[in-house]
Amino acid sequence: MKGIAILGSTGSIGVSTLDVVGRHPERFRVVALTAHRNAERLAEQCRRFRPAYAVMVDAAATDELRTRLADMPDAPRVLAGAEALSEVAALDEVDYVMAAIVGAAGLMSSLAAARAGKRLMLANKEALVVSGALLMDAARDNGATLLPIDSEHNAIFQCLPPARDGGLPAAGVERILLTASGGPFRDAEPESLAAVTPEQAVAHPNWSMGRKISVDSATMMNKGLEIIEACWLFATSADRIQVVVHPQSVIHSMVQYTDGSVLAQLGNPDMRTPIAHALGWPERIGAGVAPLDLFGIARLDFEPPAPERFPCLRLAYRAAGEGGTAPVVLNAANEVAVAAFLERRIGFTDIGRVVEQTMDRLPAEPVDLGGLEHVLGVDAEARRLAEQQAAALVA
Ligand code: NAD
Ligand code: MG
Repeated sequence: MKGIAILGSTGSIGVSTLDVVGRHPERFRVVALTAHRNAERLAEQCRRFRPAYAVMVDAAATDELRTRLADMPDAPRVLAGAEALSEVAALDEVDYVMAAIVGAAGLMSSLAAARAGKRLMLANKEALVVSGALLMDAARDNGATLLPIDSEHNAIFQCLPPARDGGLPAAGVERILLTASGGPFRDAEPESLAAVTPEQAVAHPNWSMGRKISVDSATMMNKGLEIIEACWLFATSADRIQVVVHPQSVIHSMVQYTDGSVLAQLGNPDMRTPIAHALGWPERIGAGVAPLDLFGIARLDFEPPAPERFPCLRLAYRAAGEGGTAPVVLNAANEVAVAAFLERRIGFTDIGRVVEQTMDRLPAEPVDLGGLEHVLGVDAEARRLAEQQAAALVA
């Protein structure tokens, strides 16, 4: 029996994780569930999965959760506040941590899981983007097993050889082929994008996901963040990663070897596959995903990406090239801009503008040896500047 903490259990990845876990009651026990402020859904999940701990980050929602669980026999201990996320991630009875909080808000708890030597199933790509060095070092130094949940990175992990101590070239790997659907606006006229509404942006053609990552997919910032994520996970540089636009989202990524072989992982676009892969690894367990119907799919298409058309993808390449604090600024400004767009304060094409102006105003610097404090300081400063840029666009 493995004990599991699911950080961000009320979100899209969290709900899919509980779906897979619920199919294997003999393997997994839910120890902790956490949410930002959705007390109603967290209460339902607690009644069904009976965790020992439930964490609510928002104070008012914590009271609501306690009220909702008042009549539950063996109700979980309800903890409040962001620090409690790191606390439950490091519990002795927790073996596996699903890091499924959205944004840099998931950084500290992901780090706590790595420092506690857990199996860290990482969906929270922003944690790697803002502090990849810290997270990878913490995992290595404390014997944590880091398994990627992002479908592309999970696919790459499955296509790579198990031992690659000498890095990718020593393992005979030429390139990583990172696939991208292109999002809902792959074919849209660039002039039409200024008028895009939040409803249009979150309507992804292939995947059902949380609102923030859906907007990131529409701007292709998501692919940019994934390039940086892949650099950390697979100890490589952006020039060994080729983005391949593949509108059907059936191939989830590929690895190209020196002998000309290309290995791909295919499957229906359903996050329960990478989640089940990480939960079962190195075994395979059922995920509840329908088998792939190749005759129904019939064809697979590929095209090169257009960074000039998707400024956010270009900006992510810039941040990856500059290194140091540049990805921290990129991510923070993007989080602010996406939130402003979803609140209808700025337009869709303003997202890239806010990110670029913030990067221009806060040039990259090497990350201090201390690491975390520096990163958190730059993150806060970038958010402040990005809010200013967003407000200036409205004025
Ligand atoms: P979501 O918005 O559906 O859920 C986010 C979860 O995080 C919720 O449980 C919410 O309560 C919690 N949360 C939000 N803000 C928080 C805060 N400040 N403090 C603590 N908890 C907070 O998001 P999602 O689509 O499930 O994505 C989660 C992560 O997984 C993201 O980093 C995303 O990029 C990554 N990811 C998601 C998918 C997908 O298919 N949804 C695919 C690949 C990667
Ligand atoms: Mg992905």
